Amino acid sequence: MKIAVLGAGGFIGNHLVTKLKSEGHHVVAVDLKLPEYKVSLADTFLQKDLRDQLFVSEFFKDTYDEVYQLAADMGGAGYIFTGEHDADIMYNSAQINMNVAEALKNSTTQVFYSSSACIYPEENQLDAANPNCAEDSAFPANPDSEYGWEKLFSERLYLSYARNYGLNVRIARFHNIFGPDGVFSGGKEKAPAAICRKVAEAADGDSIEVWGTGNQTRSFLYIEECLEGIARLMQSEVHGPINIGSAEMISINDLTRMVIAISGKNLYITNIDGPIGVNGRCSDNRLIANLLNWQPDYPLQKGMVNLYNWVKFQV
Ligand code: NAD
Repeated sequence: MKIAVLGAGGFIGNHLVTKLKSEGHHVVAVDLKLPEYKVSLADTFLQKDLRDQLFVSEFFKDTYDEVYQLAADMGGAGYIFTGEHDADIMYNSAQINMNVAEALKNSTTQVFYSSSACIYPEENQLDAANPNCAEDSAFPANPDSEYGWEKLFSERLYLSYARNYGLNVRIARFHNIFGPDGVFSGGKEKAPAAICRKVAEAADGDSIEVWGTGNQTRSFLYIEECLEGIARLMQSEVHGPINIGSAEMISINDLTRMVIAISGKNLYITNIDGPIGVNGRCSDNRLIANLLNWQPDYPLQKGMVNLYNWVKFQV
């Protein structure tokens, strides 16, 4: 197949390109930047700005069997929850999605759009032990970040193009995807990589700083299973939005303890003020299990060993 991957210089995008190439597809990649940690195997890599409507409409004069739209202005809690980047996040990502949806209207291309667990209402995620992230709990909407609002807007954008212009779209709500070859420093990194970096850099007896009380909970999905979920969704007649995430919930302090144990070091945790997002969040996998007859089951511990070893090598 001829496939376009948008956001192919990013973490998930580059892993996806590698997988699609191993399956023998012809892959055209687009991103502002090349992947930082592993060379892209794409047949063509266009370093272009998807906010540029002219570029996007010209690009899609060529036809593709599948398009994966992963490009977004995003980062971890230190990027999306501080409020400092709200306008850029909303403008940049919405502009990309509007360009893509408009350029693909009336086409037969199958489109994948990566939404996020950040669309779920804040009030359903106040209890760290019992968050509600069922797909049908998204409305009435009240995401706790502008990043989440933009994702919700773009879900509805793609669904409206499906309704009015026959766009053949699949939408997944990713829940904290992690693994090697992702950003681990500089401000855009997410909790698993940030914790691995802090632990890898620490000496015996040091303390590891964790934002908030550390009692906030999340679930984390290993990259291989994310790619598996994307493939299964694309092969199905399920349009979504559907959660692609792990149901193995853990507190951030316990995740830190897990990484400390993996490292074999003698470290302790200091909880400090910092952006934390909602109190609790975990993928609700009832719908995916029901509709796709599959759900992720790769143990968090195994994935964290892989990530820790990779981050340790990098630092
Ligand atoms: P990432 O930041 O590594 O990749 C996004 C890529 O988009 C980057 O390489 C960036 O350069 C590119 N991009 C941004 N603006 C662009 C523009 N104007 N033109 C061209 N390229 C542009 O993120 P990721 O972790 O690989 O996530 C991929 C997608 O999945 C994103 O849409 C993200 O919001 C979504 N998502 C990710 C997670 C996660 O845990 N990683 C969770 C929920 C949703």
